[in-house]
Amino acid sequence: MPPALWFRHDASLGHDVPGHPERPDRIRALEAEIGAHEWFGCSVLEAPAAERSVLSAVHPARYVAAIEALCADGGGAIDADTVATAGTWEAAVRAAGGAAALVDALVAGEARTGVSALRPPGHHAEPERAMGFCFFGNVAVAARRATAEHGLSRVLILDWDVHHGNGTEAIFAGASDVLFVSVHESPLYPGTGPASFVGSGAGEGFNVNLPVPGGSGDAEWRSLVEHVAAPLVRAWEPQLVLVSAGFDAHRDDPLASCRVTEAGFAGMTASMRRAADAVGAPVGLVLEGGYDLGAIARSCAALMPVLLSEATPEAGAVERHPLADAAVRRLEPWWPGLAAA
Ligand SMILES: [Zn+2]
Repeated sequence: MPPALWFRHDASLGHDVPGHPERPDRIRALEAEIGAHEWFGCSVLEAPAAERSVLSAVHPARYVAAIEALCADGGGAIDADTVATAGTWEAAVRAAGGAAALVDALVAGEARTGVSALRPPGHHAEPERAMGFCFFGNVAVAARRATAEHGLSRVLILDWDVHHGNGTEAIFAGASDVLFVSVHESPLYPGTGPASFVGSGAGEGFNVNLPVPGGSGDAEWRSLVEHVAAPLVRAWEPQLVLVSAGFDAHRDDPLASCRVTEAGFAGMTASMRRAADAVGAPVGLVLEGGYDLGAIARSCAALMPVLLSEATPEAGAVERHPLADAAVRRLEPWWPGLAAA
């Protein structure tokens, strides 16, 4: 079997806003931990800069040019949370480029799994609006590349970052070739992601929001992934599964109040790998948030053997949580029979 891939780049360290929680040490801590495990056998690759045309499949060219000009000018605040510096441009185009290159490799069959672990994160970036620490929608750029460049007709994105992926949702709300599934704490920033929004127009049914209350832990998160997200994979048979992998649902994270453990992240990975294996889809993880350095590093290290496992990993018995039962009932008009999938 070809080795799994790990995309990175030193440019991730160049986007540095003093005192900001979304900081270069996130990557340093992650790479120290994964590197100490010899990268779990991954081929470690330098993330290329995303081509202008790859970015503009998601973000209008004028928006891309405005971010470039702001950074060339030394940077500045876009909102209170989202601040560009001179180094942000290179970091952001590599973060999008790593995700796109991961998709290229997965679709080409060069690897069955892989990780794009760069920053800044991306899932809050809307087509024409940087927000929530995000400038370009990395996972969205990657998913759009799979459909537009490689001709895939079914790409599923699971976003398990603790915050709702409003940017990814906005980009694909009307699309039926990208199924977006988001588990997120609610209420919490950015305040979007109600269960009632299922997409619009041709995309109706292809946006699945799974909000959970603060304090939710492995029981809630694992159940929603095992009993809602994984059945959606088996029912829809995507050709590619991407995970917006934030680690801020971890119990140690300072920006949210969920209580997921390292074992919980490994378990969610097992559920998705099993479902993806059943339909023959490769799996790519794209780093999003996570603001406790130890939690990011340990959680990612815990899921890597599961993600990379040669054989289909075991998910174990995951209890059906009432939140999952409610979601399956709610989705019945668009996804009948999910409970049995
Ligand atoms: Zn987050």
